[in-house]
Amino acid sequence: MRDELSNYRKVDMYLDYEVIASGSKGNAVRINDVLVDCGIPYNKLKEHLYDVRYLLITHIHSDHVRKGTLNQIKKQFPNITIIGNYQVHEVFGVDLIINAGYELEIEDYIFNAFECEHDVVTYGYYWETEDEETVFYCTDTSNLENVGKELEFDYIFLESNHDFYKLEATREQDFKNGYHPYFSGKRHLSTQQAKEFYLLHRKNREVPFIELHKSERFY
Ligand SMILES: [Zn+2]
Ligand SMILES: [Zn+2]
Repeated sequence: MRDELSNYRKVDMYLDYEVIASGSKGNAVRINDVLVDCGIPYNKLKEHLYDVRYLLITHIHSDHVRKGTLNQIKKQFPNITIIGNYQVHEVFGVDLIINAGYELEIEDYIFNAFECEHDVVTYGYYWETEDEETVFYCTDTSNLENVGKELEFDYIFLESNHDFYKLEATREQDFKNGYHPYFSGKRHLSTQQAKEFYLLHRKNREVPFIELHKSERFY
C-alpha cells in the first residue's frame, strides 16, 4: 500500500501545489492559482499569495480561516476572489457564496461543492484545471457520503486525520475539561476511510494522494 501511495512524482507535471500548512494548528494549501483556506497568520501566508486568484474557504473554524488574515487578503490582494458557504459569509464575508450541489461558474473554473459532516457547515470542493485535470479537496469531515460514487479525480487532497484503531482505544477515557479525544476525533476522517475513498475515486494508479489534517497524537 505504502509504495503505491507514495510513488507519484511523475504525474505532478502540470499541477503546482504547496501544502503551506495542514492540521489543527492551521490550514492553507495552494493549488495552481487556487488557495484553499487561510487559517494561518498573514505574514506566513503573504509570500504565497502573489499568483493566487481564488480563495476557497471550507468552514469557519479558526484553523481554516483567521479573521485578521482574511482582512489583510481583502485589503492587500483585492484581485483575489473569496468563495465560501453561507455560514462563512455570515461570519467573515465572502465575494461569492457557493452552495453544495450547485456549480459555481466563474472566469477560469467551475467549482463544485459538497457537504461534509462536521460540527459547523463544512464544504469539500472539486474542480477542473486548465489542463483538464480534476482536483478533489476535502478536510474536516466524518464521512464522504455526499460525493458522487461515479466521480473520479486526477489529484486527491484529503483529510487523513487518525488511525481508526488508535482512536478507538481512547473510547473509554473520561472527559477532561469538556474534551474527549474519541468524540473530538470522530468529527474527522480516519486514514482508513481516506485510503478507501482514494482507491475508489482515483482516475488511475498514478493519482497522487495528498493527506491532510493529520492528528499529532492519533495518525
Ligand atoms: Zn480543522
Ligand atoms: Zn473543523
